[in-house]
Amino acid sequence: MIENTRDMLGRTGLIPVDEALRILLHHLQHHTPETETIPLAEALDRVLAAPVLSPEDLPAHARSTMDGFAVRATDTFGTSESMPGYLQITGEVRMGEPPKGEVKGGSCFRIATGGLLPDGADAVIMLEHTVPVDDTLIEVVKGLGSGSNIIGKGEDIAKGALALPAGRLLRPQDLGLLAGLGISEVQVTRTVRVGIISTGDEIIPFSETPRAGKIRDINAIALSGLIRRAHARPVDYGIVSDRKEIFMPVLEQAVRENDIVLFSGGSSVGMRDLGEQAITDLGPPGILVHGVALKPGKPVIIGLSNEVPVFGLPGHPVSAMVCFDLFVRPAIDRLSGLSTDLLPEASISARLDRNMNSAAGRRDLIRVQLSRQDDIWTAEPILGKSGSISTLSRAHGYFIIPESSQGVSQGATITVYLYL
Ligand code: AMP
Ligand code: MG
Repeated sequence: MIENTRDMLGRTGLIPVDEALRILLHHLQHHTPETETIPLAEALDRVLAAPVLSPEDLPAHARSTMDGFAVRATDTFGTSESMPGYLQITGEVRMGEPPKGEVKGGSCFRIATGGLLPDGADAVIMLEHTVPVDDTLIEVVKGLGSGSNIIGKGEDIAKGALALPAGRLLRPQDLGLLAGLGISEVQVTRTVRVGIISTGDEIIPFSETPRAGKIRDINAIALSGLIRRAHARPVDYGIVSDRKEIFMPVLEQAVRENDIVLFSGGSSVGMRDLGEQAITDLGPPGILVHGVALKPGKPVIIGLSNEVPVFGLPGHPVSAMVCFDLFVRPAIDRLSGLSTDLLPEASISARLDRNMNSAAGRRDLIRVQLSRQDDIWTAEPILGKSGSISTLSRAHGYFIIPESSQGVSQGATITVYLYL
């Protein structure tokens, strides 16, 4: 059982992580991303807005995949080292030029890798499987089937076939495929803009030297990095006092100018914590979730102002970054039209090197350092407070102790999700 869950009014208590995410994504389900058409050369890491069907056969003509001789496969049938066949060299395929002439029975053309298959030929015999007799005659010592060592017309991808589905994050190889098809512009979704506000009268720019009581802003730059990694665009609104009359106009501006807004600090239930009030004052729907059964990251607030998700992230940098991964990243993915099912998360299996306890009903994310011996990875938990950014900087990844578990024993095999 989860201790301290929502009450009957749904107002208080901690909400399980999956439930919080479900509530958030449910509110974003009807969102349709805006789209734009951009040059292929600028499309890396953008999300395809519409499926791409192949406009032509790739390759457009059958081509050799080996250096050798273009032949009629039947001419090689039954040949072997002890019973070679003989073929007359009657032509040569030049790279970048269409072949001249036709391969007739008992003859062959010289061909290099990538050369267009001449008429008459249906296979390429590798140089290694021939013995030159003289300039015009080869011995064939291996039989081969029709289609050997060639890539057929449309075999890579056929005209009209699905080249890339909508929602695909464009990777280098995807751009390569589109280039191969002669597609020089793509329709992608507009890059999601994410506004960031750091709150707290104690926070100063990291370029300054803190007087007693002040601390440098860690969250803005760390969250900007996470936003970029999520293929979105960070927009920094700087450090804003957590006095309402100063904070509120900046928050309102950020909501007007962005698709998502994050503020860090001021999210727990304390004297100066205006996060919940500010999101409520932005207007409906308002607060969706406040407080999640999660460590680190418990005090996160998830709200919605009209259609703009607004996240009140905990001020502690580790908590803020964990909440980003769990809640903000999926919202960015959703708003950008990304199909997350198309790309798996990077993880490895490792052996846990000590017992770790966890409260029932709470999800714990445990940061770990990895080491390897003989192909076995060992995960050493990094113990430390969520205010300690160096714990996250040292971590190679994290593993999850789920709500249903009260701990994981030393020696257990765990899945470590990697911070890449
Ligand atoms: P809060 O969520 O406002 O209660 O803050 C929790 C802790 O995180 C406090 O020690 C804050 O000083 C610290 N904190 C808040 N914002 C930042 C920030 N942008 N960078 C580094 N630490 C922060
Ligand atoms: Mg604060």
